[in-house]
Amino acid sequence: MSLSLVQSRALLGLDAAAVTVEVHLANGLPSFTLVGLADVEVKEARERVRSAIQNSGLEFPNNKKIVVNLAPADLPKDSGRFDLPIALGILGASGQIDAAALTGWEFAGELSLSGELRPVRGALAMSLALHGSGVVTQLVLPPDSAEEAALVPSAQVYRARHLLDVVQNFLPAASENRAAEPGDGWVRVDSEPFVKVVDYPDLADVRGQLGAKRALEIAAAGGHSLLLMGPPGAGKSMLAQRFVGLLPPMSTDEALQSAAVASLGGSFSLANWARRPTCQPHHTASAVALVGGGSPPRPGEISLAHHGVLFLDEFPEFPRAALEALREPLETGTITISRAARRSEFPARFQLIGAMNPCPCGYLGSNQKACRCTPDQVARLLVFVISDICSELLRWFIRSCCQFPLRNPEKNGGKYSMC
Ligand SMILES: [Zn+2]
Repeated sequence: MSLSLVQSRALLGLDAAAVTVEVHLANGLPSFTLVGLADVEVKEARERVRSAIQNSGLEFPNNKKIVVNLAPADLPKDSGRFDLPIALGILGASGQIDAAALTGWEFAGELSLSGELRPVRGALAMSLALHGSGVVTQLVLPPDSAEEAALVPSAQVYRARHLLDVVQNFLPAASENRAAEPGDGWVRVDSEPFVKVVDYPDLADVRGQLGAKRALEIAAAGGHSLLLMGPPGAGKSMLAQRFVGLLPPMSTDEALQSAAVASLGGSFSLANWARRPTCQPHHTASAVALVGGGSPPRPGEISLAHHGVLFLDEFPEFPRAALEALREPLETGTITISRAARRSEFPARFQLIGAMNPCPCGYLGSNQKACRCTPDQVARLLVFVISDICSELLRWFIRSCCQFPLRNPEKNGGKYSMC
């Protein structure tokens, strides 16, 4: 058969839309054409796939006109995740593997020139999409990506290290090598049990500051945002970084959502499974870095802090536009990023902790050092606090008191009795 279909998935925010990779081998002038709104990285797949097939000892149909179509054609596709499906499509269309046996399987993976498989981002989102749609499909993924995808309960995930490991499992029935046992490269990855104890930095590390600790506990119990104001060295950053330790352990759903967003950003590691994130962007961060953006849209710091804490140190130094962009996600818990081609929605339910000095030099009212600021400078900062924070964010703070039910302190492992 000169036509072969292989299933894969593209990433659109947290949605992983199904993509069919169609490969047709025709007679005519030898060429290799890739169509279907493919980004530059996807188009470069032609060179990687050709080298990977040849270096694996398989036959690349050099004398054929090869057309690869990534359907649906209007869905943007990026990254090298389609290398493996394209290679399998070519091998299926040229009869080197059994194309009919690929039904019921989905593939993703970037190929090296030698045929080794490299991890792809968003493997967890792929697995979650399959889990959400209720379709029983077997996923074949590179090392690391497979372990990530297997975190979804009841996912059927196989890990392959090399293109040949995959080919070995889909050889035609008549093939002589069919009986050969699959090597170490091909393994079914089972989901790990979800019980995990996460160690966070302890609030007991901070000496004194009983008032601030009490405020953190109240904020943690009620799901409130918080603004810490004090001179340099007072322990604002230390307190903020220990805030997540007061929150209850993550449920499986929360951990999956948090891991899926991190996986989209390419920053997920198994060691961080079920750990509430604390994101601390620098105050020079732009609005796009904070809330997400780009084309295709990528999650920003507020989404990476989903079910965790967004800590903005030097709060008044952040650009006004960046702070304004936080208002909508603070209220709704999601952020919608619209671009000309597509719109993507990312979850962004985080607790906001801001920290600032009481005046530009930081020592207003401190007994360690005299304040060097002019009354005018102090007034300008106070105007920021009163006009910006009080009018917009504080309005949300107050409203959030009514929206969030109090969390049960017993779920916190007794950490409430600390101070
Ligand atoms: Zn000062």
